[in-house]
Amino acid sequence: MGIAENLKKIEQNIHDACVNCGRDPQSVHLIAVSKTFGSEEIEKAVRCGVFDIGENYVQELTEKQTVLADDRIRWHFIGHLQSNKVKYIVEWIHLIHSVDNEGVAMEIQKRALRLNRTIDILVEVNTSDESSKFGVKPGHASDLLKRISIFPNIRLRGLMTIGPFLPAAEQSRPAFRLLRNILDEANAGGFLREPMKELSMGMTHDYPVAIQEGATMVRIGTAIFGERKKVQA
Ligand SMILES: *Cc1c(COP(=O)(O)O)cnc(C)c1O
Repeated sequence: MGIAENLKKIEQNIHDACVNCGRDPQSVHLIAVSKTFGSEEIEKAVRCGVFDIGENYVQELTEKQTVLADDRIRWHFIGHLQSNKVKYIVEWIHLIHSVDNEGVAMEIQKRALRLNRTIDILVEVNTSDESSKFGVKPGHASDLLKRISIFPNIRLRGLMTIGPFLPAAEQSRPAFRLLRNILDEANAGGFLREPMKELSMGMTHDYPVAIQEGATMVRIGTAIFGERKKVQA
């Protein structure tokens, strides 16, 4: 199946998942994750009206951003971000999903101030306690959110997580529920300048469960573009 057919099917699935749990289908946004795929594939998704594109690697992202040079595309950074790479994306990135330490937030603040812009970010939480994963530990999330919330050029929009690497979608539910609880607690904590609304959770194998648990952004790669050749987490 081609990208257009895949997208149609996913959009239908998102719609159905929302209706089945009483949510407005407009409240869930699809991020097309294009890592390892070329600019031509991204163009196909764009032609289908998908403008939110997610990438994991800074160099791959900047190359594609340069080649495509399409102002309609909203670029999402979803991979592990090192402080020394912030400068390459900070001018045009739409949303950074993967901030998990104060150092990288300080670098984003510094660069954003120089550009006189505000950067939207999510804090990544390691909800499944797998050591191979990045993300702040659930017990440290509130402290990190407090520290980041004082940076004037950073807008904290919400939280992101990757479900556990387990075969059944249902096995991701506790992780998604935990992320939602951390968001609710932080919003009730009184230290944020504005409430956080976004929950970036759910991938190809578990996005319907994520939607049931409150996802506002699902990050889908394989179901749109097909299997990736190289295995890159
Ligand atoms: C690769 C990746 C995705 C997409 O995964 P699929 O299983 O291909 O849908 C989503 N989020 C992150 C952080 C990723 O690295």
